[in-house]
Amino acid sequence: MATIDLDRLIKRYGQTTVVHGIDLSVRDGEFVVLVGPSGCGKSTTLRMIAGLEEISGGEIRIDGRVVNDLQPRDRNIAMVFQNYAIYPHVTVADNIAFGLYRSKLSKSEKRQRVEQVAETLGLSQLLDRRPSALSGGQRQRVAIGRAMVRDPAAFLFDEPLSNLDAQLRTQMRIEIKRLHHRLGTTSVFVTHDQVEAMTMADRIVVMRDGRILQVGTPLELYENP
Ligand code: ADP
Ligand code: ADP
Repeated sequence: MATIDLDRLIKRYGQTTVVHGIDLSVRDGEFVVLVGPSGCGKSTTLRMIAGLEEISGGEIRIDGRVVNDLQPRDRNIAMVFQNYAIYPHVTVADNIAFGLYRSKLSKSEKRQRVEQVAETLGLSQLLDRRPSALSGGQRQRVAIGRAMVRDPAAFLFDEPLSNLDAQLRTQMRIEIKRLHHRLGTTSVFVTHDQVEAMTMADRIVVMRDGRILQVGTPLELYENP
């Protein structure tokens, strides 16, 4: 588990400011959804938390520690992407094991960890397959497995379900929430889909034009749209 605090967080590209000094505190174990139209700065915000994008101002703290200058791998958080980011030519096991790249575990410890994660995600029977022989939902689970294998304190999800068909999307929403609770982790989930936000979030953060417009539980936002 982890807390994530954003203080006056700013992002500029050249002369253009795309994130205008946002403040947000994500609590230990919370599932927060950032929602808003395309281009409002959700993904940029998430990528700054992950350390994939330099910040232009403000501060990011994870468990109270300022991480502004830390490399992504030193932040103890994992990101799950929309396009799966899995390697087509290697097996499911190696795709998951890639998350342990640079880890100090022995080969047999890595193997054990990969098997453990596969078990949690229902991928045990598929470890020797290549991604081309998987369904969309299974591929998405492999991508989550790669993030999970490092046992991160928090997960960042960047529209992970938008490439899935409607039925699978509904199913994966439930699976991701179940996993979040089972791991007792902290999650920040980005989507442009209001239904997804309403059904998944403990707390919804509505963004517009690089600013936070509203923050509340799904019920609060439903009653005061
Ligand atoms: P969202 O995730 O809400 O769709 P983004 O965070 O991806 O929005 O983008 C926010 C704004 O920042 C958009 O106007 C986008 O065009 C701009 N932007 C994103 N990345 C870059 C970049 N590398 N250079 C310039 N502008 C960018
Ligand atoms: P390396 O590239 O480290 O020499 P391998 O290519 O054999 O080793 O495997 C890379 C990682 O993938 C290993 O750390 C191992 O834990 C994991 N791995 C490979 N195949 C399996 C499998 N069938 N079940 C579980 N884990 C596996």
